[in-house]
Amino acid sequence: MTEPTQSLEPARPLEPTRITRRTLLIASTGISSLGGAMTAAFASSAAADPVPPPSGPFTLPPLPYAENGLDPVISATTLSFHYGKHHRAYVDNLNKAVVGTPLADMSLEQVVKTTYGVAEKTGIYNNASQDWNHSFYWKSLRAQGGGTPPPVLRQKIDAAFGSLDALKKEWLAAATSQFGSGWAWLVLDGDKLAITKTGNADSPLTRGQKPLLTIDVWEHAYYLDYQNRRADYATAVLDKLINWGFAADNLTA
Ligand code: MN
Repeated sequence: MTEPTQSLEPARPLEPTRITRRTLLIASTGISSLGGAMTAAFASSAAADPVPPPSGPFTLPPLPYAENGLDPVISATTLSFHYGKHHRAYVDNLNKAVVGTPLADMSLEQVVKTTYGVAEKTGIYNNASQDWNHSFYWKSLRAQGGGTPPPVLRQKIDAAFGSLDALKKEWLAAATSQFGSGWAWLVLDGDKLAITKTGNADSPLTRGQKPLLTIDVWEHAYYLDYQNRRADYATAVLDKLINWGFAADNLTA
């Protein structure tokens, strides 16, 4: 805080003088009346802007496992923040943004596709796409995942990549080479499997590709458990959590 005595010197520049005069004024009005005024201000602000989370057309989907269900590959602490804070915020922000607009009547996928590339809808697009991506990411993982894909998927993996190991190697390279925040995906492109990566909130939905699985490579997905070691996180996800059955379901969905 500025020293009150300095404000009484007439030669001081205008700006600091104004600030400290205000400080002195507040001090001279007495703490108790100031406290009363602040309490009233907070009360009226709370009445005008209710605290309960915004209701809206979009809801945070339940996690397909307990928050500690992916431990120790992804800890309960990471999931509590990633799902409970980050994903929830995308949903809440999306609901606030679409209220009273035609977007409120669309499916989440429609909102993503409709707002993509529209400059004045960037905020809505980012929250909608992040909501879609995270909902898809949770389903892309399972406890005791990894292992061998179902035969229908294995056949397509061999056709596109030569082997499961080759696919995992390409996927890991995509995950680690994505500069900054983003996603690394297994997609169906035409009738062929492919690995692709997207930045920030982007997804293959707007590129004419069908997402089959995804790995979130935003730092918030792994930093608490792996710090800066994104490759270790992605490798562990591929070996121990990735849900090949979900990909096989998506092939025919
Ligand atoms: Mn995330």
